[in-house]
Formats: sequence, C-alpha cells, structure tokens
Amino acid sequence: MNATVREPARDLPVSASADVVVAGGGIAGVAAALAAARAGASVLLLENTCTLGGLATAGNVTIYLPIDDGRGRVVMGGIARELFDLSVADIKHPAPVAGFRPPPPVWLDPASTREARAAGPRLETGFNPDGYVLALEEALLRAGVRILYDTRVCAALRGGDRVTHLAVENKSGRTAVACGAVVDATGDADVCFLAGEPTVSIDANVAGGWFYTVQDGGKLWLHTSSHAFDKDAGKGGGAEGPFFRGDDGEQVTGQVLATRDLIRRGLANLRADHPDEDFQPFKIPTIPCFRMTRRLAGAYELREGDMHRWFDDAVCLAPDWRRRGPVWSIPWRCLVATRTANLAACGRCASWDTSAWDAMRVIPVCAATGEAAGLGAALALRAGAPLPSLDARRLADELRARGNLLSPELAAEQPA
Ligand SMILES: Cc1cc2nc3c(=O)[nH]c(=O)nc-3n(C[C@H](O)[C@H](O)[C@H](O)COP(=O)(O)OP(=O)(O)OC[C@H]3O[C@@H](n4cnc5c(N)ncnc54)[C@H](O)[C@@H]3O)c2cc1C
Repeated sequence: MNATVREPARDLPVSASADVVVAGGGIAGVAAALAAARAGASVLLLENTCTLGGLATAGNVTIYLPIDDGRGRVVMGGIARELFDLSVADIKHPAPVAGFRPPPPVWLDPASTREARAAGPRLETGFNPDGYVLALEEALLRAGVRILYDTRVCAALRGGDRVTHLAVENKSGRTAVACGAVVDATGDADVCFLAGEPTVSIDANVAGGWFYTVQDGGKLWLHTSSHAFDKDAGKGGGAEGPFFRGDDGEQVTGQVLATRDLIRRGLANLRADHPDEDFQPFKIPTIPCFRMTRRLAGAYELREGDMHRWFDDAVCLAPDWRRRGPVWSIPWRCLVATRTANLAACGRCASWDTSAWDAMRVIPVCAATGEAAGLGAALALRAGAPLPSLDARRLADELRARGNLLSPELAAEQPA
C-alpha cells in the first residue's frame, strides 16, 4: 500500500529527563543502566514490555553461555560476571530437564587447576527466567535506576549533533524524554535507526522459540525448539526457512506466527511420542525470538578474523561459546554512533559483521558491551566529551577498576 496520510505536528510534553537514558531492558540494557547509575549518573530505563531480561527471560533463552575461554581461564568479570552469578543465585539444586544449572563444580573449587578447568565443562549456567526477572529488577532498583515499563521509544529528536529527546508512547500517550546521553539496547538498533545512524539488517532469521512444558508429576521440561540457522547469518549452511528480517512490523508477526506453529508441532510430537503423559505448554516466549535483526554500522565492524587481536580502544573481551580457544577484544568504536555525539549501542545490535555475529550476540557479550556503553556514556557526559572521542583507554581503566578482565594476555591465543 503506497497511500500516505499527514499526521498533524504537535508539541510533546516532556515527561521525564535523565543523564543517561537506556532504551531497552534486555541483558545489555540492564548492564548499561547498572553501570551508568553506579558511576553517579541519573538513569532512566525505557522498556517496551513489563519485564526485564529481554530474550533471556521473556524469550526463555536460559543458558548464560560461557565466560571462560575454554582453556581454563575466566575472561569476563565486571557486570557480565555479576549477572552470571545472579542468574543462578537462588538455585539450590540443579534441575537438568528444566535446564536449571549452577556453574560446574570444577569452577567453584578454588583449588582446581587451570588444566582441570580446561578439561572440564565450560563456565556457564542455566537459569530460571522468572527468578531472573525478579532479581534483575531488584538489582536495578537498588542501584537507583528509574524504570518505565510498557514504554516504547518511537522517535529520536535531534538538536545539532545530539539526540536531545526520545519520543515515547505508553498509557500517557506520546511524550518526550530529555536525555544527556542515550544507550540503544533495543536489540534492533531502534534508536540508532531513528536517529539517522547507518544500520545494517539481516534477513536470515528463522522460526525459533524455546518453551517449557509441565507434565505428569509436575515435571518442568525446557524445549530448545528452533529451525536450523546459518552461523554466517545467511540462508545457506543448512538453514531452514521461512526467513525473516525482523525490522518491520509484518515480519515480526510473521516470525511469531511461524514460531507458534513450530511450538504446536513440537507439542503434537511430544504427545504422540509419550501417549501416557499429559504435556501442557507452560511458558512460551512472549517476545519475538530473533537472533540478529538490525545493528549499528559503527566506525569499526568486528570480524571473525579479529580473534586474538588486541585493539588500542578495547573495552570488553568476548570468548567463543561454540569453540574452545578464541577470544576477541571489542573496540569502543563498535559501540558508538558515528553521526551522533551522545549515542552508544550495545548487546546484539552493536557493530559486528555477519562473520562475528554468532559469537557476539550472546548473553555474556551483551552484558559486557552494556557495561562499557553505560559507563562510557556516564563518563563522557561528566567530561562534556562526545562519546566517539571519549578516551577509551581511560574507560578501559575504569572498567578494570570495576572488576573487568581486560588485557592483551587474556585475548592472546593459548595452546590447546
Ligand atoms: C532462539 C534463540 C536462542 C538463543 N540461545 C542463547 C543461549 O542459549 N545463550 C545465550 O547466551 N544467548 C542465546 N541467544 C541470544 C541471546 O539470548 C540474545 O542475543 C541476547 O539475550 C540479547 O540481549 P539484548 O539485551 O541485546 O537484546 P534483547 O534481549 O532483545 O532485549 C532488548 C529489549 O529491548 C526492548 N525493546 C526493543 N525495542 C524497544 C523500543 N523501541 N523501545 C523500548 N524497548 C524496546 C525489548 O522489549 C527487549 O526487552 C539466543 C537467541 C535466540 C533467538
């Protein structure tokens, strides 16, 4: 349909203001908000749903993938480690079928050797999504972050080279939020796109949505239901269509409907395979489960081939969840907008190309990039500096002071 209609111009009431406004309350947004608030900034987090954690909780994606390098060394600290520990803080007993798993014992034993850790399971957890929602919310409130749920960012209003306000919609109607700096943690680079930053979209998402069943005896079972996807973010490599882009209203509904169909078929198979059990769907995803949709095209786009490379402006380390060994350092340039002085992006919508996306889009890396973006935004604001020219080495020092493990040695290749 090509018809258009003109919306009358109107003045928006300014409903709130904050030093750092975080758009999106997934794992990246939570980490960004925590980091900025702890650095002394006033922080407002705007979340479209009424829950925190994004895909990790509302999407039932409940494996906090490894924070070690697969060679026996922990390579992530700071808020990535804090949210890792928080994910299973209340889990006393593993429940393998439900997917609840504390860290492997070899990592909990302070006397275990690097060799024993390298030979054992990776340092990851499996968490209860609803327990995690409660814990993430409590952590934000304790840090003094103001949360506004049920609030969608709809437009970025510019003044010169800055975003001065975000237009938001919620039960109050359409209002404006005044911002010192903005962190785009929407997963889809919504703010970057709305602010006119260059972005790139991936159109190879598949149907997928993890869900729980409860069956006879009250046993909870996590089903990791998904069509196969291409690790290079294309449509080859055994990927199973239909394919979705995810940055368009029709496409989002299309992916949700295809995922529900997959879940219905999964349930039918379970019931056919276990005719004596009563399988009930218990918790299905309540947000679209896209792996990668739209992302910032920053001044640098991280590539698979950058593994083990130390960047002068490195602000995070990222291990590889798929293989033992690779570690990337992530430059500040992957997290900052190029045309807007006060805008950063983090999580799955930061600047990496399709060769690196599959390693970078996961929960631990979302947390680490969120912390760097949130702290960087707070520090730049305090210094009166545009985010792209923030001294990234100073930011890295501040991140180290907060427990982040950031060094060329940890990024370097290790013998198997
Ligand atoms: C099927 C599947 C399986 C996966 N398996 C794993 C796994 O086992 N382990 C792992 O570590 N990773 C896994 N991942 C990847 C990982 O879960 C996500 O990439 C990661 O959680 C993304 O975090 P995020 O904070 O960047 O974005 P999201 O989790 O997408 O959070 C973005 C948040 O922003 C909100 N939002 C969006 N737009 C707006 C707006 N305009 N205004 C306000 N709010 C907005 C959303 O509601 C959401 O809460 C999987 C992904 C999928 C799809």
